Amino acid sequence: MSGGTALQPLARWAGAAATLTGFVIILLAGNAASGESDPSDQLGPLVAGVAGLVLLLAGGGAVAYVQALRARQRVRHLDALLTNLHRDVRALAADSGVGPVVAVDHAETYHRRGCPVLDGKPGVSAVDDVVIAGRGLRPCTLCEPPT
Ligand SMILES: [Zn+2]
Repeated sequence: MSGGTALQPLARWAGAAATLTGFVIILLAGNAASGESDPSDQLGPLVAGVAGLVLLLAGGGAVAYVQALRARQRVRHLDALLTNLHRDVRALAADSGVGPVVAVDHAETYHRRGCPVLDGKPGVSAVDDVVIAGRGLRPCTLCEPPT
């Protein structure tokens, strides 16, 4: 993929480090502020605490962004695999010849002969339009039998 892929672990690590650092700064600032009785002396720790919060949120955002990018890449990869599988199954089913479509007893879908979904299943029989309509059968989304 793009050059951004190589930077993702780095961005993720930096984001996690920023989040942790921000959290520590908030803790330290809170601790420092609680030790000051004069409100004017609490300003420094307050500013540090806000800076820590900004760092924490930015780090968390970076981690979430990288996670979202990775998820999108995985979805694209799975989508490509599914497209190939779909194409292969249709080619396989087409090779096995046209003819009546079939269904498994008590199943809710019908298939082309040779559909891998049917492999090893007992009770496969040909079904016609009347049976399909009567049983309310839906076409298999993998082999896409003719309707
Ligand atoms: Zn099928």
